[in-house]
Amino acid sequence: MGLREISRVVAALRTREGGGFVVRRPFPTPQLDMVDPFLLLDEMGPVEYAPGEAVGAPDHPHRGFETVTYMLEGEFEHEDSAGHRGRIAPGDVQWMTAGDGVVHSEMPAQWIRERGGRVHGFQLWVNLPARDKRIAPRYQDVRARDIPAWRSADGRATIKVIAGSANGVTGAAQTRIPITYLDVLLARDADVTLDLDPSQSAFVYVFGGALQVGAERRTASDGELALLTAGDALRLRASADGARALVLAGQPLREPVARYGPFVMNTREEIYQAVADFQSGRFGRIAR
Ligand code: MN
Repeated sequence: MGLREISRVVAALRTREGGGFVVRRPFPTPQLDMVDPFLLLDEMGPVEYAPGEAVGAPDHPHRGFETVTYMLEGEFEHEDSAGHRGRIAPGDVQWMTAGDGVVHSEMPAQWIRERGGRVHGFQLWVNLPARDKRIAPRYQDVRARDIPAWRSADGRATIKVIAGSANGVTGAAQTRIPITYLDVLLARDADVTLDLDPSQSAFVYVFGGALQVGAERRTASDGELALLTAGDALRLRASADGARALVLAGQPLREPVARYGPFVMNTREEIYQAVADFQSGRFGRIAR
């Protein structure tokens, strides 16, 4: 099938989320609604909070999809209505399958809220197939040390495999549908080619430097998302400044999407049901 090329480049928009923290959001935006099976990607920061300034996303519900939080710098505290509590430290991933529904809170750690500090990370929303939208909630807390990496022979490329696989290295997280989630670090002039399952639709989000894709060598730069054509391999060449990027790929669901804030279902009726269930307390509450 050959190399994937860039079909379209979309710039991330700056917006506010949760309690008012600023994110760079490549989608959803007026330019790009979703990349089936992905519903949202937010880059949180990087931001340097002063003491008392850090904000997060206090108690809110989810139903019908998965939220995947990946911290690069700083630390988040998480708690939810099922009694789950945890910390997401630099390099850690929390893969939360909201399924039938949870109420949770995602906040910068108390020490960052009190003393200030730097926060940088990602949140990705992965849609669930209709058959899985109301499964019991599940967490996978993946620690940084348990995330394997592929390294090029010349040492210029390091690819952390959060889910799926890259050149024979299999990722740490289990997924409901085939998903590839890679964190790519390229030194200047790095040139790597990765196998990429041809059944998955894919994009690259660049969050530092710039890179060129495929044989056509179209460029994506910091803050840009590049949608990719079909293919079974992805060639990335870093600029003279190097590049940081996420590569995300997934098997498209090709199902109807009804979304309303934190609920993503297949029909409007299912959205009404989710709102009614939340308002009547069926998602529970966080015990404090
Ligand atoms: Mn959330």
